[in-house]
Amino acid sequence: MRDKEEMLEYVKKDAEESGYYLCPDQELLDDLIEGLVKNEERYGYASCPCREASGVKTYDSDIICPCEYRDIDVEEHGMCYCGLFVSKEVKEDPSKMGPVPERRPTEAIEAALEAKESKEEGGVETGEDERSPPISSSEEDITVWRCTVCGYLAARENPPPVCPICKAKAERFERFEGSKVDKRS
Ligand code: SF4
Repeated sequence: MRDKEEMLEYVKKDAEESGYYLCPDQELLDDLIEGLVKNEERYGYASCPCREASGVKTYDSDIICPCEYRDIDVEEHGMCYCGLFVSKEVKEDPSKMGPVPERRPTEAIEAALEAKESKEEGGVETGEDERSPPISSSEEDITVWRCTVCGYLAARENPPPVCPICKAKAERFERFEGSKVDKRS
């Protein structure tokens, strides 16, 4: 299993070899690397941090990072679905980061969800919701932002420019404090 540093090195090398760049937003990059590490620990492979994995490799093979959809998304939208890999144009102007429509076929998503349900019915623990990054007690004083569209939580100074789950823009995030949610000022 790779730690965050090793995972960052891995994606950096892959980006260089593929002619891409890594996410220009450092906090979002950190979140995504952490998501990959967490998924590798949980499933045994680094599935996409922005997609729900089944935990059954056969059904997740298309979303093991870098996923099968990365190249076409970077070509058409300047970034992959999560925003981990971006084009030179986006690297130089991060304001061009924006929503990327999911191109993973519905059939593949449904098959993976069915596989996940079967696995859960078999009594296999799938762990906590992989959409949300862990917020340790040592991070309790860090601002947590909640996406008002999908509920994704991000512990960081400012809201991410784009929600890595549903692609909602930063203005759709609210400050989240335990059970109390305050609107961004
Ligand atoms: S969308 Fe990006 S981060 Fe997610 S698996 Fe594909 S290449 Fe990796």
